[in-house]
Amino acid sequence: MIPKAPPRSGQVGFLYLPPFRIQGVSIAGEQTMVQIPELDVAFDIGLCPKIALTSPYIALSHGHMDHVAGLPYYFSQRMFQKIGKGKVVCHEEIAGPLQRMMASWVDLEQQQTEHEIIPLKPDDQIEIKKNIFLRALEVSHTVPALGYSIIEYRSKLNSEYIGMPQEHLRDLKKQGKEITHTLQIPLIAYTGDTQMGPFLFRDEFAKAQIVVCECTFFEDDHQQRAKIGKHIHVEDLVGLLDIWEAQAVVLVHLSRRTNMQTARQVLDSVVGPKQASRVHFLMDHRANRLRYEQQAECVNT
Ligand SMILES: [Zn+2]
Ligand SMILES: [Zn+2]
Repeated sequence: MIPKAPPRSGQVGFLYLPPFRIQGVSIAGEQTMVQIPELDVAFDIGLCPKIALTSPYIALSHGHMDHVAGLPYYFSQRMFQKIGKGKVVCHEEIAGPLQRMMASWVDLEQQQTEHEIIPLKPDDQIEIKKNIFLRALEVSHTVPALGYSIIEYRSKLNSEYIGMPQEHLRDLKKQGKEITHTLQIPLIAYTGDTQMGPFLFRDEFAKAQIVVCECTFFEDDHQQRAKIGKHIHVEDLVGLLDIWEAQAVVLVHLSRRTNMQTARQVLDSVVGPKQASRVHFLMDHRANRLRYEQQAECVNT
């Protein structure tokens, strides 16, 4: 008899929700990293799967180990592989501790690792791509915590000028007339770890095309645990899905003990099959693979 080989683990979850890819790993208490390659952002970095290195921005929701432990490794590998300096966006209250953590690494390694820490107050935002902003939204967890919404600013011609010839519009502009207005379009929102609260009904969540939402607890008798740990319980989704207009809601941060099939059944019975049909589980590899194969087939035929 020879000893058993170690289990294969660490498969990256993947969903193609056009035009965005949502990919990463998220297991409550172990690690969470949810990346949107098209928008240059990864939310949280509990560990640092290889794909995370391609994101120039990490948006940290809070300082728990399962969301932050991969950060120094991310900074270091970005330099080692000559990808460029990594940037982390975080709640202003954890910027100091992050700076001190990076300073400890200088002592340990006897070398500097380039990095940038960008503290945000709730409702602050930074431009991460042209006309695309990452906005910090205060949520409620056991430690200072942020959710995020990625918002596109799109300039639109005022309705009275629609159909007017270009040279006319140019003249109006020259005269200093305001002929456009700016629309704010929330593309993707991320709740981070949070309990239910009115902040989750803000437009940045309600009108987002995709919401990535933590949902740690699915069992009926875990309501109390959700309350103590300040997490979302599947029952909370009833109210949220009522308000959220998203074409897709992606659930993350399930515990390792939660069986995917059971979670899907519970979700169906709690929110009803109609609402459940737009909900995906990032870590349901089997369902997501089948879905992706169907998407690929549609393109090929
Ligand atoms: Zn967590
Ligand atoms: Zn947490």
